[in-house]
Amino acid sequence: PNGPLPVPGNEGPRAPGPARVPGTLAAEDVHAWFGDHQVLAGVDLVMAAGEVTALIGPSGCGKSTFLRILNRMHELVPGAALAGKILLDGEDIYDPALRPIESRRRIGMVFQKANPFPTMSIYDNVLAGLRLTGRRVKTRGKDSEADALVEHSLRSAGLWDEVKTRLGTPGGSLSGGQQQRLCIARSLAVRPDVLLMDEPCSALDPTSTRRVEETIRQIAGEVTVVIVTHNMQQAQRVSDRCAFFLAAEGQPGHIVEQGRTDDVFQRPRDERTADYVNGRF
Ligand code: ADP
Ligand code: MG
Repeated sequence: PNGPLPVPGNEGPRAPGPARVPGTLAAEDVHAWFGDHQVLAGVDLVMAAGEVTALIGPSGCGKSTFLRILNRMHELVPGAALAGKILLDGEDIYDPALRPIESRRRIGMVFQKANPFPTMSIYDNVLAGLRLTGRRVKTRGKDSEADALVEHSLRSAGLWDEVKTRLGTPGGSLSGGQQQRLCIARSLAVRPDVLLMDEPCSALDPTSTRRVEETIRQIAGEVTVVIVTHNMQQAQRVSDRCAFFLAAEGQPGHIVEQGRTDDVFQRPRDERTADYVNGRF
């Protein structure tokens, strides 16, 4: 009964109906404030299960705020308010009967600055997310299930071959790009339905960026990915669908245009989208 909701302009290649994999996230009429300052107005967006959705738009238009709303981190900001709904497979993640930790377990997040625990081993870093969600995990070598989960998560994040001989070394000893993939592995170990990524490659060199993009394409299909990026080539390389956010002077941010990535880039309907994707902003 709770399939993805058809939203005008967001009718994907996938027919409306029950999702094939879990993880369809839908924002309905989302408004957000910090105190008196309204930062988002009327945001409707369906992020279909297993697809990669890119959020693009100038700085300050509310993309990071929107991501935090999607996994209930917005409510941790003092003075922050929210209206509208966020549905995960049709279920309101803000339902007071649900504990916030449950949504955050199903909806992982990776930030611009990779934030592994620097002195903790690579192995323990991968499992650290499980501990935070209250699941018990045994230590290295004592538990083949944990070993298998670490290997699987690191493989999914495209890092296994680089670190398999040094799992006991500190997470902080890795390069920036490897640290970011370690953070992706840490998120994936919790087996989320959705992975939110806020400019995950902004601090990375081109080679590391490519690796992270490969990782995104690899996990797409199993995990719903929502990525904020200022890199227009990256948006085109990794995303199936794209939403262009804009905040006019003194106005809250909203989605100007959304659709299949090819359409948004090759056949934008709005002049402001055309200007932005062609670097005229
Ligand atoms: P983007 O990620 O698109 O650059 P943000 O979501 O970070 O945009 O910010 C949107 C608006 O909300 C900006 O005007 C920003 O200054 C404001 N803002 C973001 N975080 C906070 C906060 N914790 N307190 C007050 N204002 C904030
Ligand atoms: Mg941001």
